[in-house]
Amino acid sequence: KSVVAIVGRPNVGKSTIFNRLVGERISIVEDTPGVTRDRIYAEAEWLMTTFSVIDTGGIEIGDEPLLKQMRNQAEIAIDEADVIIFMVNGKEGITAADDEVAKILFKSNKPVVLAVNKIDNPEMRDTIYEYYSLGFGEPFPISGAHGLGLGDLLDEVVKHFPITDKEEAEEDTIYFSLIGRPNVGKSSLVNSIINEERVIVSEMEGTTRDAIDTPIRKDDQNFVIIDTAGMRKRGKVYEKTEKYSVLRALKAIERSDVVLVLIDAETGIREQDKNIAGYAHDAGRAIVIVVNKWDIVETTEKTMKDFENKIRAHFQFLNYAPIVFLSAKTKKRLHTLMPSIKIASENHTKRISTNILNEVVMDAIAMNPTPTFKGKRLKVLYATQVSVKPPSFVIFVNDPELMHFTYKRFLENKIRDAFGFVGTPIKIFSRKR
Ligand code: GDP
Repeated sequence: KSVVAIVGRPNVGKSTIFNRLVGERISIVEDTPGVTRDRIYAEAEWLMTTFSVIDTGGIEIGDEPLLKQMRNQAEIAIDEADVIIFMVNGKEGITAADDEVAKILFKSNKPVVLAVNKIDNPEMRDTIYEYYSLGFGEPFPISGAHGLGLGDLLDEVVKHFPITDKEEAEEDTIYFSLIGRPNVGKSSLVNSIINEERVIVSEMEGTTRDAIDTPIRKDDQNFVIIDTAGMRKRGKVYEKTEKYSVLRALKAIERSDVVLVLIDAETGIREQDKNIAGYAHDAGRAIVIVVNKWDIVETTEKTMKDFENKIRAHFQFLNYAPIVFLSAKTKKRLHTLMPSIKIASENHTKRISTNILNEVVMDAIAMNPTPTFKGKRLKVLYATQVSVKPPSFVIFVNDPELMHFTYKRFLENKIRDAFGFVGTPIKIFSRKR
């Protein structure tokens, strides 16, 4: 999926445009408790193309002076994006900071689309010609406040997206990534897996823009490890910031089928672990929880069970995720990892036939009658699976308003009980019929 970054001085209107582009999609926090969304990275859609948008202004690096901040933002955009929207303020003209950003972007060879914001009415369009001098060709007049000009801007942005048919070709390959707090052992685990499994030397270069992708083969199955952690150590200022590491994790999640949520057995579970896991859950990815550094823990049969109970209590929204205990360092129990990833992925892509699905749903309804609201009873007509990754079901009903969330959860649990779905979230929608 292509990535678009928005760069520009503070107050040129980046966040307003960002919010307009991603619309309400970002606010679907659903039932993941404790997950606060960083509004710096989200999905958007234009002309049937979905892409990701980064608001580089959301990544502040300490109290660096403006020019330094601008330089960092431009570099983040260059590192992370396929296309850059360079935004200037049409009411202020070109400033020194704009020139500075332009210089950096110009050197990068990334496609840059110039947006002149705050052109709130047509008379102001005559003023945008001065922006040609920035050297990025035609300036696109927009108004974030009034939502004007965005269509033309996006038409231009979409034109520059790279062709990604390669990703389609890798249909049966399982892509997975590792996320977790600093020092939980992400890099160590990637290295251990690569040392242990058969790494395929392939012609995949070109697909690895900002992560190191390593293809491996295990039990007749191809996997690709998306390693963003390993890319960190280039020594740029912003790479140490919390928001940038979140951004990196989100990008890795985006490309993954399965996400390994790493937890440090030594330091135990922290609140931050929950936020990180929440991203993967919200994105509908398959999830395996990995408790690393298991070599340090004094183990009896009970330790594992106790740790598992703690995880289950803490990550209730991940009750479907299998838990693997291992040591990246000693490779103890490492052999349990790949099979868990495979199972999670199989369930993530599982299709249930409509017949069998409806038997399960109708049995559930017979056991626990549908709710009534204002004297009206919910009627379930039939259910069908509409997609995979994650498995998503539509239940056709007389009136979706009558589908109380507790009843929806009951049906979800029944579907889970019947079909397993270990390692994957499932989604249920109700529609009027
Ligand atoms: P990252 O920041 O998540 O990529 O973590 P690293 O892979 O850099 O590991 C952080 C530290 O934890 C390093 O000092 C590793 O040697 C150590 N570490 C990683 N995995 C294990 C493990 O399984 N057992 C022990 N004892 N230490 C580990």
